Amino acid sequence: MIYPPTIMTAPSTRVRTARPWLIAVALVLAGGQWAHGLLAGQRAADKTDNTNNTNRAALETIQIRPNVYVIFGAGSNVAVHVGEDGVILVDSGSAAMADALLNAVKAITTQRIRMIINTSADADHVGGNDKVGAAGVAINPDAFSDDEHATVLAHENVLVRMSAPKGPGGPGGNDTLFPVAMWPNETFTSKFRSMYLNDDAIQVMREIGAHSDGDSVVFFRRADVIATGDILDLRHFPVIDPAKGGSIQGELASLNRLLDVTLPAMPLVLKPGRTLLVPGHGRISDYGELVEYRDMVTVIRDIIQEMIGKGMTLEQVKAADPTQGYRRRYGADSGPWTTDMFVEAIYSGLKKPAGKS
Ligand SMILES: [Zn+2]
Repeated sequence: MIYPPTIMTAPSTRVRTARPWLIAVALVLAGGQWAHGLLAGQRAADKTDNTNNTNRAALETIQIRPNVYVIFGAGSNVAVHVGEDGVILVDSGSAAMADALLNAVKAITTQRIRMIINTSADADHVGGNDKVGAAGVAINPDAFSDDEHATVLAHENVLVRMSAPKGPGGPGGNDTLFPVAMWPNETFTSKFRSMYLNDDAIQVMREIGAHSDGDSVVFFRRADVIATGDILDLRHFPVIDPAKGGSIQGELASLNRLLDVTLPAMPLVLKPGRTLLVPGHGRISDYGELVEYRDMVTVIRDIIQEMIGKGMTLEQVKAADPTQGYRRRYGADSGPWTTDMFVEAIYSGLKKPAGKS
């Protein structure tokens, strides 16, 4: 694997490279942990991820493949795929970070942004659709329009959610949840949306009903990088939001499908080659961590299923602590996604099986 000798950087934006030999050494020393530089950078990214800090320096870019970068700290992680056809972004971060994100992309390449793929309708994943997209140009530009804007692709449910009225009959009137300029301008409903761009086979896989009803996972086959959106979030238990169409059944099915296409460095474990996973938030991940995460969700699902079988109420299940053993690593007692909310989502999902995804 050959990396470019120098990487373009802007004064306020650092771009790091994960060196193959460092990864190999780190794998041996730390049993699957990442190279030191990468780890340090990602720790910083973890910290800045949830803040509303609009300071440009908060963004950090890491190069994970010769033509793939990940920008941390823009609300959600943003995967950047660069090539002869232009820049493809997975997610556009939060609206507040749009300018900073644009600068971070410009620090990587002078190529135009051609496409933004949204992995869900969450505000921290679609917030930059308008501003960042407006700096780009569509994959197939409209010859009859002067308005240039990158193609914004998402599952149709993302558009349905973003264009829903704020409040039926309420003071919001006809206002939609997100302004029109932020909506995806191209949607799909099929199992895969496939394209060949930047000399790579790119597949957007429909994973609706896991984290939400608009989930997509983006697979860059040649680069062997998968942007998972919020289906994988190593910072805490997966956010399964039943109010937004998420379900424990869909979450587990998605994690298992991800495992089907995620390869470890086997059988030559010292080689750096393996599938890299870019989660919606938190650090870059791989097969080993995905297995652990999937097992964790499966074990907790089984425990809660058993408790339901015994006729336990939600309060009794919560009190019995079905997340024991995992709570310290993935749990939270406060913040937007608590352990209680996770347990509740699984409990209600198992009590009332969700529809097919
Ligand atoms: Zn998210």
